[in-house]
Amino acid sequence: MRLLGLFIYVLIYVGTIFIPAVAGAEVMCPGLDRLYFGPNFVTSLKPYQSYEAIETDACGTITELHINKPYVTKESEVALKPVKLPGDYALPGFHDAHAHLRGLGWMSEVIDLKGLTSITAIREKVAAYIKAHPDYDYYEGRGWDQNLFESKQYPSAQDLDGLSDKFISLRRVDGHATWVNTSLFNSTMKAHPQMVHPDFDVEYKQKHGGYIVRDKYDRPTGIFIDDATELIPLPEPDEQTRRRQTWRGMELAAEAGLTAVHDMGVDWRDLEWFYKYHGWLPVRVFAYMDDNHDELLRLNQKDSPIWKSDPPEMSRFKVMGVKLYADGALGSRGAKL
Ligand SMILES: [Zn+2]
Repeated sequence: MRLLGLFIYVLIYVGTIFIPAVAGAEVMCPGLDRLYFGPNFVTSLKPYQSYEAIETDACGTITELHINKPYVTKESEVALKPVKLPGDYALPGFHDAHAHLRGLGWMSEVIDLKGLTSITAIREKVAAYIKAHPDYDYYEGRGWDQNLFESKQYPSAQDLDGLSDKFISLRRVDGHATWVNTSLFNSTMKAHPQMVHPDFDVEYKQKHGGYIVRDKYDRPTGIFIDDATELIPLPEPDEQTRRRQTWRGMELAAEAGLTAVHDMGVDWRDLEWFYKYHGWLPVRVFAYMDDNHDELLRLNQKDSPIWKSDPPEMSRFKVMGVKLYADGALGSRGAKL
């Protein structure tokens, strides 16, 4: 699979090498067509069979599939640049049908708590990250799982005491629960004082979904499930951070050997940005809009970027649909089961 990834990366590289100097300008792909051979090329074309070589144009688009040798003739060698690839199998045009590009980039920047089996281990990891980034305004992490702890109990805000006076927000491995430190917990309580009463949960759950984990005295503990995480007043990332994380997400997808990603949950700001840079994204992006009513209405209006101009043929961005949510998870007990 590594070799396969390498191969697809080669294709992506071929496609992205000629980046236009001016963003938004039509992408030109000067240079030679290429002929790749070496592994068996497996496609989803029917009838299923493998191919011995593929040809691409200078932009990296596959133009021809060769079943049998000889695929390099004297004449074609003049027009094509033959490239021998390592490995046994290659899947040209590998897609991921459900991803969150910005989330992927975000995950690569925050504290990675995956696989840690105790609160002590988590504290150590958080402390090391804080030490390495003393100037951050707040700290985020992802990947904890209370099912890996001996107690299998949810942790609490107090378990993070003494690490930092700044906000700490740690998302569970499934993304459906958030664990905050005392400082962020106090700010959440200040923003929603009615949270102190357990009745608040019933109303909130009916209106929005999600819930707040409480101790045996009905006090909130610092764990928020599903939509209740929206109560937490963590600052919104600025535009630069959003773009950096989205771009990093695309780079990671390309590094993993993907040529296209279906980005599930794109908002208006993302949309405008994607259209601006549609010609030179590191991977092809098929976007599904968030189910935000006002933004969806705007899509139909004249100022919508989707009407501005049909993206030229080389565009790597397209809006495909809308993502509707009816979501919950088993591990954080938010699923309706
Ligand atoms: Zn998703």
